[in-house]
Amino acid sequence: MNPYTIFSEIIAGSAPASKVYEDADVLAFMDIRPVTPGHVLVIPKVVARSLAELDPALGGKLFQVGQRVAAALRDSEVACDGVNFFLADGVTAGQEVFHVHLHVIPRTPGDGFGLRARPTSPARADLDYLAGSIGGSLSRNAGFDS
Ligand code: 5GP
Repeated sequence: MNPYTIFSEIIAGSAPASKVYEDADVLAFMDIRPVTPGHVLVIPKVVARSLAELDPALGGKLFQVGQRVAAALRDSEVACDGVNFFLADGVTAGQEVFHVHLHVIPRTPGDGFGLRARPTSPARADLDYLAGSIGGSLSRNAGFDS
């Protein structure tokens, strides 16, 4: 499968983008279809189609740049009373561009952005069971944090 997306073209400079920040590893630019004014995308410069393909150290850097962009949004002319981070990993999660990207979304009251969900109230035993399952998986994949 072709690993290249429109974001590779933006990184290469062959497609236009309104850049906010750039360093050797990370690029931040305005989303072409913002869900609120000032909506920024933060991407790694290397191709990673999913979180599983992304070097965790680079994931940390994406978050750091996201934090700085969030602070800059609050300090800029963008209307911004709050910020949401959003990352879609996989089709079912809503991912449309298969190059990992962190959405940084400035929020104002009544801006219309939101997540739809149906929260439940599971028993503690069910929470404990799933915690054990997830924790066991983390232990088996201990190389992740090395
Ligand atoms: P996803 O649904 O994959 O999390 O989000 C993909 C995002 O990329 C969308 O918000 C969409 O507007 C944005 N996007 C898609 N194509 C382009 C493009 O060519 N330029 C920019 N700046 N953003 C894009």
